[in-house]
Amino acid sequence: MKTPVTTALNFYQGHDPAALTAVYGSPLYVYNEGIFRKRCRDMVNLTTYPHFKVNYAIKANTNISLLRIAKEEGLLADISSPGEAVAAFAAGFAAEDLFFIANNISCDEMAFAIERGITLSVDSISQLKTYGKLNPGGEIALRFNGGVGGGHHESVITGGDKTKFGIRAAYIPEVKDLLAKYNLRLTGINQHTGSQNTEDVYLSGVKELLTIASQFQNLEFIDFGGGFSIPYNKQNGEAPTNLAYLGQALTALMEDFATAYGKTATVPHLTYMIEPGRYICAESGVLLGTVHAIKQNGETKFAGTDLGFNILARTTLYDAHHDIEIYSQQPETSPPAKLEPISIVGNQCESGDYIAKSRLLPPICEGDIVGVLDAGAYGYSMSSQYNHRQRPAEILIQECGNIKQIRRRDTYEDMLANML
Ligand SMILES: *Cc1c(COP(=O)(O)O)cnc(C)c1O
Repeated sequence: MKTPVTTALNFYQGHDPAALTAVYGSPLYVYNEGIFRKRCRDMVNLTTYPHFKVNYAIKANTNISLLRIAKEEGLLADISSPGEAVAAFAAGFAAEDLFFIANNISCDEMAFAIERGITLSVDSISQLKTYGKLNPGGEIALRFNGGVGGGHHESVITGGDKTKFGIRAAYIPEVKDLLAKYNLRLTGINQHTGSQNTEDVYLSGVKELLTIASQFQNLEFIDFGGGFSIPYNKQNGEAPTNLAYLGQALTALMEDFATAYGKTATVPHLTYMIEPGRYICAESGVLLGTVHAIKQNGETKFAGTDLGFNILARTTLYDAHHDIEIYSQQPETSPPAKLEPISIVGNQCESGDYIAKSRLLPPICEGDIVGVLDAGAYGYSMSSQYNHRQRPAEILIQECGNIKQIRRRDTYEDMLANML
């Protein structure tokens, strides 16, 4: 039998998953600090280009204890709402550490950024006009959509004509007119082509954005976006992103462009930025749940758990794959029992409520603990109280091996608190 992924990584550092759920409740999000820090360093060290910033896309996981660690590791933050700015401030980030990449925001939300001096990017002609009226003479960044789109599911591809994001290059003359009309200074441009990009899709997106950048003068920064992929199929040996290849290719593109651009610009140097979300936090999280029922419906066998799509939405929303480990609470059999196909489902009143479909797993019993791997990104941050269920606690296994609780489970009082 293959070594479980969590054993190979020493994910639990000697802690027993069942004992953790006994203390902190089930379901439970468990994070590993060492892995989280390692992923931060991977991104910070991606290139030797000297002016390079890593903005952690905090929508992937907004827990402020994790944000503090990201800050310690030298990351800045990419935010998509004022609420995320509030979380970043609580974690110790300053306004100048944040880049607000807005999509269809209100004037109040623009004012929030302007008043605090947070760099703001808008992504339509319409929002550029609104901004110009609100803050004439101000600074602004723009999100372009060069046409390259990549991703693991239609819902996460954010480049190309079919998505709502970004300004297409054809509108550059109109952009320039508006910048002049409102006396705005364009400080930078950005893009985000999607999630789970391959190295080459990412690099073609970079090239497209550089072509757009060459049409503007005196940019201070160019931000290539996030979307670095992580291997969700580790049990089948899926390879991680080739950082050495990506980093080298990226460095060459950035250096060549900066040299050429520097000859025409009056700004001291060009800064490049990236916005990884999932890459930073996905692999540092495992979601634990408990099996409460086993059922055979005709051909299909189900393990019914407390892992509804209110706890982890990715499988239901994107048909996403997460590797599963079963921590059996039964006495061991010898020889070990054979694998059998089983679907892991949740406790929500919806048929789309599943974690894994027809997965080959060892026999499962009531009381067993299920581990959903690579659940650290878009897990808790997308969770809800649907079916009026409590969102779970989050704990961090620190590098020293100690457990730190970083969020408590919702109480029923919390759930009633906002209702009048
Ligand atoms: C979601 C998002 C990211 C992060 O995407 P990942 O696939 O998690 O790396 C980066 N930038 C923007 C603008 C985003 O919306």
